[in-house]
Amino acid sequence: APLINIKDISFDYEQTKALDHISLKVEEGDFLAILGPNGSGKSTLLKIMLGLIKPTRGSIELFGQDAKDFKHREWIGYVSQKSNSFNSGFPATVEEVVAGGLAKKSGLFHRFPKDYKESVGEALEAVGMESFRDRSVSELSGGQQQRVFIARALVAKPKVLILDEPTVGIDHQNVQSFYDMLASLNREKGITLVLVTHDVDTVTDKITHVACLNQTIHFHGYKNQLDSMSD
Ligand code: ADP
Ligand code: ADP
Repeated sequence: APLINIKDISFDYEQTKALDHISLKVEEGDFLAILGPNGSGKSTLLKIMLGLIKPTRGSIELFGQDAKDFKHREWIGYVSQKSNSFNSGFPATVEEVVAGGLAKKSGLFHRFPKDYKESVGEALEAVGMESFRDRSVSELSGGQQQRVFIARALVAKPKVLILDEPTVGIDHQNVQSFYDMLASLNREKGITLVLVTHDVDTVTDKITHVACLNQTIHFHGYKNQLDSMSD
């Protein structure tokens, strides 16, 4: 079964049709870019995939199960757009931020698994940030912070990672190595990646599939994965 199967969904806000009869499958191993200009419905689609809102019409299956019966939300990791403008106002180390991805709330306290140091180390290694473990997150560059937030999502061992505008806040000259890191997560760690962005330059040779919410954008060599019944 596809890991995410969006079946003919629509979403209406009071005045606006944000999504109109959209279908999209995310298969295991995909590195999918969901593209669209501002206002094309990217955030709405993202919220539906994460189970934060329900489609007005249509249905969504996660790992072969109807989304409302799906019990393994931890299989779907998420790195929000706000993450990389993180400024906590208190000094949090890279290790503390990444370990936060493992915390289970228990009353007033957060409990961490016994082997959390090892898990944090593995996640930091996967994003090339193991040597920054004891550094304060606030003193890192935008690109380094974004890697730390990806590690925070990875530490919970998701099967799919959804990234919302991940290159916002990364210096232009560092974007290529950032994509190389994502490609290694995809190819070597087998993590299915869904990147949601308005930035058409994200469509590099690392991307395996493209879904354009704006049907007028076409990319040479890619079929639009998004089936839209509207025109
Ligand atoms: P994107 O993320 O691609 O910018 P959105 O999903 O945020 O697109 O928005 C899709 C459409 O829905 C836009 O026309 C937007 O103005 C509208 N919209 C988004 N959020 C709301 C909301 N809370 N209430 C009303 N309309 C909204
Ligand atoms: P080709 O493959 O023939 O070189 P493409 O259609 O792939 O041409 O587009 C070339 C570049 O233009 C790509 O790098 C892509 O990022 C960008 N691009 C493609 N379509 C659009 C569009 N509708 N709006 C903005 N940029 C686009």
